[in-house]
Amino acid sequence: MKKKILMIATGGTIASKETAGGLAPAISPDELLSCVPEVAEACNVETVQPFNLDSTDVYAPHWLEIASIIERNYSAFDGFVVTHGTDTMAYTAAALSYLVQNSAKPVVLTGSQRSVYSRDTDARRNLSDAFLYCADRSSYGVRIVFDGSVILGTRAKKTRTRSFNAFSSIDFPAVATMRDGRPYCYISGPRPSGEPRFYRKLDGNVFVLKMIPGLRADVFDYLCKSCDGLIIESFGSGGMPDYGDGAFFEGLSRFLSLGKTAVLTTQAEHEGSSMDKYAVGRKLRSCGRITEAGCMTLEAAVTKLMWALSLARGEEAEKLFLTPVEYDIY
Ligand code: ASP
Repeated sequence: MKKKILMIATGGTIASKETAGGLAPAISPDELLSCVPEVAEACNVETVQPFNLDSTDVYAPHWLEIASIIERNYSAFDGFVVTHGTDTMAYTAAALSYLVQNSAKPVVLTGSQRSVYSRDTDARRNLSDAFLYCADRSSYGVRIVFDGSVILGTRAKKTRTRSFNAFSSIDFPAVATMRDGRPYCYISGPRPSGEPRFYRKLDGNVFVLKMIPGLRADVFDYLCKSCDGLIIESFGSGGMPDYGDGAFFEGLSRFLSLGKTAVLTTQAEHEGSSMDKYAVGRKLRSCGRITEAGCMTLEAAVTKLMWALSLARGEEAEKLFLTPVEYDIY
């Protein structure tokens, strides 16, 4: 029996055409599908196009819309392929990993660096691989399939703007490789059992404060007014500057005293933060209760904080944030 797959087309370069104003999404899902006729041999596909955007414009409401399409169609389909722009695909993949948990059915995101009609495009291979992976008996959960790699939705990051190998799996191996249209799985299981869990809310009031040397601490005036959750993207293992006046520590203390959630992470792409290693990090603990993202990617940390804060506040939200989902933290 062929699997029945729902294609959720959302735009991106893969669906773009050259316009007077530059590349922009313009291709329908059926037109995209007609470029990969081999897919019809492996699965039956139906299509839906909730929006057709450059992924620069995709954020929490769109993630919720995709998750809601998956929830409404979950029993009628065996898997889902989401075509998406590459720029924010890692955020969408991470968000879907929190919004659709414990899914024994695959949710596969793909896109391309070049439009499907450009010469030397990677679109046809990626699209075909995404469907063939989705149709395979071994697949489940939220994954990105791109340039032959199958990457966990919680571990993906766009690390190249031009090359076909645009995505890296950060501090975790790719779970499979696509070769000749077949997945070779390196890591499989444990496959989820029981029912999937769908979540329908995100708290979009999350801010990422990227530290730069000399940043002014009055940024906390804005943060205290406008955010529920703050991710401090610090240097190296993690810490905050004193700059002789302790203004950053005072700002963070003020933020935490309002009952808001702060998470420390690092700008270093690999190996995560270790807040207690240096005095400049350990001193953060004197500001109040602060959480640490450890080895999570920024994309996972941002979307997981939005998810956790939509369900709880304070210690309860921090507990949710630190509970592993699909190897996002270990
Ligand atoms: N700007 C495009 C997007 O993210 C880039 C791409 O799809 O590769 O929608």
